[in-house]
Amino acid sequence: MGVQWVLVGHGLLTLLVVISFLCGQWPIFQGTIIERIHHFITFGAYDYFLRFVVVICGSQGRNAILSVENYCCDRPNPILQVIYLAIIGVTYFLIVKSSFSYMPGYYLSGVHRYTSFLAVGVGVLLFLLTSFSDPGTVKAENVTEYLSAYPYDNIIFTEKECSTCKIPRPARSKHCRICDRCFARFDHHCGWMNNCIGEKNIRYFMAFLLWHFFLCIYGTITLGLVLAGELKEHQVIYILTVYYGVENSFYSLSPHVVQWLLSSYNTQILLMVFLAIVSLLLAGFFGYHTHLCLTNMTTNETFKWQDYISWKRKLNEAKASSAALKASIYATNGEVMPPESKWRMFFRRSSKKNEEVVVKDNIYDRGAFRNLLEIMCPLSGRRSFVDRKSE
Ligand SMILES: [Zn+2]
Ligand SMILES: [Zn+2]
Repeated sequence: MGVQWVLVGHGLLTLLVVISFLCGQWPIFQGTIIERIHHFITFGAYDYFLRFVVVICGSQGRNAILSVENYCCDRPNPILQVIYLAIIGVTYFLIVKSSFSYMPGYYLSGVHRYTSFLAVGVGVLLFLLTSFSDPGTVKAENVTEYLSAYPYDNIIFTEKECSTCKIPRPARSKHCRICDRCFARFDHHCGWMNNCIGEKNIRYFMAFLLWHFFLCIYGTITLGLVLAGELKEHQVIYILTVYYGVENSFYSLSPHVVQWLLSSYNTQILLMVFLAIVSLLLAGFFGYHTHLCLTNMTTNETFKWQDYISWKRKLNEAKASSAALKASIYATNGEVMPPESKWRMFFRRSSKKNEEVVVKDNIYDRGAFRNLLEIMCPLSGRRSFVDRKSE
């Protein structure tokens, strides 16, 4: 029993570290232990590593590492693209090698040999489409089109010029310092795709996430059915029931079943665990992006709104404290105010609080349906805006 708990603990710890590493910077994890672990893995540990290098190799060693970092993180490079292809390739290869001999099996027909290949192929195609499609580059030739498609809200987007491209910066666009270009409806720079996600390729990006989520689920279920078929064909449950007596429930037999599976099918089990974890991460990521799409927000804008709201709150606090100061000056001038009842004070405070609530007024949110339509059919490509440009 003790060994089982150690295994469960180990699994949960691994899951926590993996999730913290991949998703720790997401807004939902703000202020939680997951964000702190993420910070340690991504910055803290790296910082200690740099100090260690300085002690061992001097500042020259540190400069070498910083230039590698500059190449990997600040300039376009295909490292993560290659890693993605390696992960999907190796995973599929392991599945073919370990499990294709069980197809057709008790629960699976032979058709999965072909459908699985097709499913992986479509996944890679979606990856290539997102990686190599134009996210919506803003250039001098098309900037008027983008300016009319995306009006300024004068809250988080005001009229500005891109200092690098020397063209007006339309609302919702951003200059990506890695790609060194301005992109319309900028979402984020995706290292895995080595490309920005913007107006024109967010639909492919969403399709990529959804397809890979289903791909992982498909893999997990198929491998599960391979194992279930093996159990059935070897009559494992039957043999165990006879050996341990019929009164044993499935629950008490399950450790023996798991032991039998682990002894001969550990590749399949490892693959299942891996695919299940990745499918959970993809579900989270897809869910987050779906929420953004439905409310017509971009990842970039969530940061901008955060900044705006915290700035506005500070401003309100400053106003409140100056008002309090004024009131105290009046009081010292001799205009003694009658003491306020506790009830009135309470309500006054709560109504004051309501006044101070900073509202996020997203003018680009035009209802879930039209927002989704905007994802599928980008605004700047629509006839109304193209025509306006040619006028
Ligand atoms: Zn620019
Ligand atoms: Zn970029």
